[in-house]
Amino acid sequence: MTCPCGHYDYVDSTAETLTDALAYHREHGNRIIHEKLTGSPLFRGSIMDPNGKQNEIANRMRLYQHSARCPVALRSFLDCNPIYWCFIPVLWSEALAENSVHTRGTSDTDLLLLQVLTSTAVGNRRLANYLDCVPLSPAAYVFSNQQVKQQRSFFQQFISCTNDQLPYLTLDLYKVAIIAVLPDIRSIILRYIIETLFIIHAETKLNMICPIGIDAEKRYGRVYDLVWCANLKQPPISTTKSIQ
Ligand SMILES: [Zn+2]
Repeated sequence: MTCPCGHYDYVDSTAETLTDALAYHREHGNRIIHEKLTGSPLFRGSIMDPNGKQNEIANRMRLYQHSARCPVALRSFLDCNPIYWCFIPVLWSEALAENSVHTRGTSDTDLLLLQVLTSTAVGNRRLANYLDCVPLSPAAYVFSNQQVKQQRSFFQQFISCTNDQLPYLTLDLYKVAIIAVLPDIRSIILRYIIETLFIIHAETKLNMICPIGIDAEKRYGRVYDLVWCANLKQPPISTTKSIQ
């Protein structure tokens, strides 16, 4: 599997079909992008998340950590789901300019309405909690007032969705190629040995194991840039849609 940025690879193996493996990566890859951008878990159940353990394991994987912060992978996600642009912080100067444009065109009535909306959000603890969890922006970046307003309406719709409704369209983030197929009668150990040989040979940066037995992060470094939003800029003509 290769990230669309072309700089990161991952080797995987499965005893199931390729379709099953792709569905697994699609599910977790898209979920983790949602969770990293919004700061809140996708599952909105009351007590126990049935997939909690599996999600916890996936959350730690370098594969998904990378795609959730890779500008190229994120751009693909945002093209399909423009409603998430409000979670991509912008430079201070851009936010100030955008704020002044919106304030200039805002009447006293609009400002009053905005104040009512804000106080409603504060009154609604659940909505306020979601807004509080939105991750802090990297230094020199911030959310514009307009983005915060859009985040509020995003979470309003998110709360009204049922748990089986995804707030995004899912997409396959990685390019995939099959490099080996084993016969039906084979041991799990053999499959793992072959997978490991491919990982060692290709020195894939996103696998959790690495050739010389040290921590993958020590060997290949962090899987994303801390200023992850630097190369992400919303196109001028917004095609922002609401949650379906
Ligand atoms: Zn990438």
